[in-house]
Amino acid sequence: MSYQKPTINKVDFAMMSKYGSPLKSQKIRSEIAGVDVRELVQNYGSPLFVFSQQEIEEKYHRLHEAFSSRYPDVVFGWSYKTNYLNAICNLYHKLGSIAEVVSEFEYQKARALGIEGKDIIFNGPYKPKEALKVAVEEGAKIHIDHLFEINDLEEIARELGVKIPVAIRVNMDTGIYPQWSRFGFNYESGEAIDAIERIHSGGLLELTGLHSHIGTFMLDASAYGKETAKLMDLKHQAEERFGYRIEYIDIGGGFASKNRLKGVYQSPDVIVPTPDDYAQQITEAIYTHNKSDTLPRLYLETGRHLIDEAGYLLTTVQAYKRFPDGMKGYILDAGVNLLYTATWYNFNFELDRRYEGLNEPSMLNGPLCMNIDILSENIMLPPLDRGTVITIGPVGAYNYTQSMQFIRYRPAAVLIDKERNVHLIKEPDDLETINYKERIPDYLKRS
Ligand SMILES: *Cc1c(COP(=O)(O)O)cnc(C)c1O
Repeated sequence: MSYQKPTINKVDFAMMSKYGSPLKSQKIRSEIAGVDVRELVQNYGSPLFVFSQQEIEEKYHRLHEAFSSRYPDVVFGWSYKTNYLNAICNLYHKLGSIAEVVSEFEYQKARALGIEGKDIIFNGPYKPKEALKVAVEEGAKIHIDHLFEINDLEEIARELGVKIPVAIRVNMDTGIYPQWSRFGFNYESGEAIDAIERIHSGGLLELTGLHSHIGTFMLDASAYGKETAKLMDLKHQAEERFGYRIEYIDIGGGFASKNRLKGVYQSPDVIVPTPDDYAQQITEAIYTHNKSDTLPRLYLETGRHLIDEAGYLLTTVQAYKRFPDGMKGYILDAGVNLLYTATWYNFNFELDRRYEGLNEPSMLNGPLCMNIDILSENIMLPPLDRGTVITIGPVGAYNYTQSMQFIRYRPAAVLIDKERNVHLIKEPDDLETINYKERIPDYLKRS
């Protein structure tokens, strides 16, 4: 053991808890899905995104079971923006998910993976007309966000000489505030039914589905009961008043993962609803409010809940120092460039082994030359060595897709299969990646 300069810590008794002394407890993780974390970093570099197939599949089957045991016709659509690494998308497709995309780039990604148009749900507030036209021709499920899109689709219907099946996105009050009212047509104000009337009067589009996505990280399962009841009411009105046959309702995503939101002090195990809680609310509301002789197909667009805990980021301690206020500061090779969601979550930080010495308040800083690059402002840690590998989780949702080519190259990502084989699913960026598609005008070239 290397020499550590002694320090005096003020012990704050508010920190004492039933989990033991804050001066001695250490969270340790030496492996992910049976593979040693230090070996992973040696083989693939640090930092490194790691995904566990076992954990992805467990979550998927658990959620699918919660719904399919209660309802005869349920289909999952993988939310591409949550994590669109190709290997990850293909894993969800292999498990039975169709694709849910929110841009033409994600649409093209799904098509390039061999997903047929009919198995793509096309959401989002901006769908360029050319992209819409391709989606129409390929039979995608188009979820209309606003009136301009109704006009665009009607033009496309005229150009192609076809009637286009569509769904509308609906926003509503489900008791969750702030309400997500930016997307789609409002239920309570009558805007949604007006949109249906507008579609009907045009005669060029055929309403076949209703969609809503009420928010993300929803800790109140009953909001989904309210959402489903309102969609079922709208379905009934569309069928009664306009003679449509609504084949499906899509209740969107938003189920919480077991991440810890900043400012929420209860354990995620206590406050996060179970898959059965969500499924019970949704399916019961369909059965209660169904007035048709058939049941609609139920689509889910779950992202975060399915993958967050299956994703980890390995990072290595590169240096440490003591700040003027006495705080111990660690410099890691991963920061907010890779963990965009660090703003909202208190991640778990787990050490590769047990370290000697008492814990002291420490700050975890990333590698960026930016004051805001902080992964934890104050965490109790023992004295760590240079080279310590720290596992950060859960980071499977929205981090890889939002990681930035900023100051440092983006790292590799690996998937560990159920036989503990490690597969490289994304090579790290290099200078070529960064310079790709850049141009220098001749007069600025250095020959
Ligand atoms: C982002 C998004 C999802 C996925 O949301 P999660 O909270 O990750 O489950 C589903 N549907 C739509 C329309 C979205 O924009």
